[in-house]
Order: sequence, then structure tokens, then C-alpha cells
Amino acid sequence: MRAILTVGTVLSLLVSFAYAEVSAPEQSDKNIEICTQNLLVIGKAIHAYEKENGDFPVWLSDLHTKHLADGNALICPSDKEGGKPIFTQSTDPEMPVSYSYELNPRYREWKTEQRKVYGDAMPLVRCRHHANDDFEVLNLSFSSKVYRSSNLWEYKPEEIYGSVEETIATLAAGIQQHPDSENLVYYPALVRLYIQVEREVDAENLINRYKETLKPDNIRGHFVLGDMLELMHRDEDMLQLFTKLEEQSPENRSVFRKLVEIHERLGNAELANEYRLKADPTLALIGKTVPDFSAIDLDGNPISLAQYRGKVVLLDFWAVWCGPCIAEMPTVKAVYNSYKDEGFDIIGISLDTDEDRLRDYLKENDIPWRQVFSGEGWKSPVAQQYSIRAIPAPWLIDKDGTLITHQARGEKLERLVAEALKGKSAN
Ligand SMILES: [Zn+2]
Repeated sequence: MRAILTVGTVLSLLVSFAYAEVSAPEQSDKNIEICTQNLLVIGKAIHAYEKENGDFPVWLSDLHTKHLADGNALICPSDKEGGKPIFTQSTDPEMPVSYSYELNPRYREWKTEQRKVYGDAMPLVRCRHHANDDFEVLNLSFSSKVYRSSNLWEYKPEEIYGSVEETIATLAAGIQQHPDSENLVYYPALVRLYIQVEREVDAENLINRYKETLKPDNIRGHFVLGDMLELMHRDEDMLQLFTKLEEQSPENRSVFRKLVEIHERLGNAELANEYRLKADPTLALIGKTVPDFSAIDLDGNPISLAQYRGKVVLLDFWAVWCGPCIAEMPTVKAVYNSYKDEGFDIIGISLDTDEDRLRDYLKENDIPWRQVFSGEGWKSPVAQQYSIRAIPAPWLIDKDGTLITHQARGEKLERLVAEALKGKSAN
């Protein structure tokens, strides 16, 4: 799946982290050993701090120097930068720290809520500097145990409990005690584990109990129920659920996307297509003339699609803050340089809000094509006009003004541009 930034992606902060460099095997074993010792020392310091203050530290730097004399314990030897947690959201404001502290102010409320159900086995401090094929994160639990897990341990809680049986027992007890917890991902996790150990009846009972407590206006809860039904392969029940949800929130594109999946599985190709169009109305534009826009470009000149008629045009919705857009830029530039003299051009529609940052980027990266910038981000008039909900959105438009695709990305871009220039674009 390609990385894409959507409006308000909640999970993006959980998955968009870079991997550290990989060391030689012996060195990396040694690093894990040292990191494990660090984590245990940090764990001790945290508990001493908690005992004294009646609460956890706000940041790990609060431990230094009273509870943690040696600040080097906060640096993992695999951390090439000597004090960065990889997740920038976890960066300690006071001093170099390699570790992600799960109770930092940003996560504290969420993690405290999670702990009610998952208990003290869940991670308290995490190191992401050893990521390789075997595991992604080295963790220290609330109960001071060090173990390896995937990045999103919530999706594989058995990694933190050691066995499936133990995980089932813990989650079932947690759910019993906190049935109304805001944190719902453990419901599907438990259903998955029940299925894994062939306890389908328990899975059914859990789903039924969940359904009984589910309030009609809890949209997110309905999606969680949908996840559980999907695990049980109950497509007909899912269809019923999401059809009802569609009546309730008729503009919800996530509901439409679910209905696409369900109808596809049920073999209803036509309905699947209908919902695909509802989920992404711009699909209907493929093969049709793209309505014109008019704006002022970054140099103060009027710009419209009509000015480009006769050329193959990439109408590129992007922003400097959008990682996947920036990752795409070298490809876009290479295609531009190869085909600009043959009738290919690009119009950038920037969803940035910081004009200086945009101008700096364009200058530093030597980007010559014209840009439209309003400073209003997602609310930029051109982006609004074309219902842009996610970027990068690279719309490739044919010489006659018809839309070839709105996903002209990666290797596909050059092929599509070359074909369109030869006058034989196949949608
Ligand atoms: Zn480490």
C-alpha cells in the first residue's frame, strides 16, 4: 500500500517512523544487551520517582540526576544520533534521550486508559533503534520486564504477554472490568485470539455482548463491531451494519469504503463500483473533461487549466509538510525534465500554509514549474473545488483536457506521460 496523507490521519503518527541503520550482527546483539540494561535502570528510576512523587515523571529527563545519576543510560548505543527517539512526537524537551516514553504528555491519557485493560505488561519505555526482521521495538513494561514486539503491539498483544492463553485471560478480564473503555481495539484483538484457539463460541458471545452495549451514535464503535464481524467472515451481518450506518451518516466516506469491500467479497461488482464512486467522487471524472480553475500563481500571474490545453499536464496537489509528496518529488522532477520539451507540464497546487517554507523548498530543490498557493491548507480553493481529501493527489490530464488518472505516481507516472504524449493513453 502506498503511503498517503489524509485529513486527520490518527494512526499516521504510529506508523510513520523511519528505521534506524542496521549494524553488524555481533554489534547489534551487544547493543541490544546494553539497551536492555539501560531500560532496566530507567525502570528502576521511574519506580523510585513514582514512589517519591506519587506519580510518574512527565518526561524521562525528570529522572536526571536525582533518580538517574548517569544520563548515558538514556542513550541507546544503536541510536546513531546519540539521543533521538525516532518518533519526533516522543522527543524529550530537556536532554538527549533515545527512548520513547509512553507516558509523555501527549500520550499519557491514552496510555493510562489502555493500562486499565492491558495491565502492567504493556510498554512504558520503548526503543525503536534496533528495528530489523525479527522485531521492531525493544520494550520495558510497567512491571519492569524487557521484551521485543512489533511497532503496534496493540495489534499483537500476545507479544507482550508471552502466550495466547495469557493474553486472552488478561483481555477478557480487562473487558469485564472496563466494558465502556474508550479504547476499543482490544475487542477485535480478543476475537482474533479466540478464533486462533478455536473458541468461536466465546468470540460470538463477545460480539453479542458488545452489540448490546453499543450506542447508536457511536460511529467508531460500529466500525469496531465491523472489524469483529469481518474476522468471523460474517459478510451479510457486516452489510446490514454498514447499510444502517450509511442511513445514519450519509456523507461518511469511510462507510462507503467499507461497503466497497463488503460488496466485493459478496460478488456484487456493480454495487461495489457504485460505492467506490461515492467514496471517491473524483473517480467519475476519469475520461471526462476536468473542469477549469482559475487562480493566481506564486509569481502573481493568473493561471488556469485552459492555458495548458494541448499539453499533457500533471495537476499535482501536494505540500512541503507531506512526507509522501516529498518522497515523490525526485520522480516527478525526472519525468518533467525528460518530457518538458515534448509537451508535458506540471502545475503544483500547494496545500501548504507556510509560504516561506514553500518558497525555500522550491528554491532549494530547483523546482521550475508554476505553483498555486493560497495559504489555506486543505481549505485552499482549488483543492476544495476538486474535493481533495488526501495528498499526494497527482492528476494527469490529457492534451484534450480529460482526466487520465488521479493517481499518476511512482513508476506509473513516466509510462502514462509517455503514452499520453504519443496520443494513446489508456485509462
Ligand atoms: Zn535501544
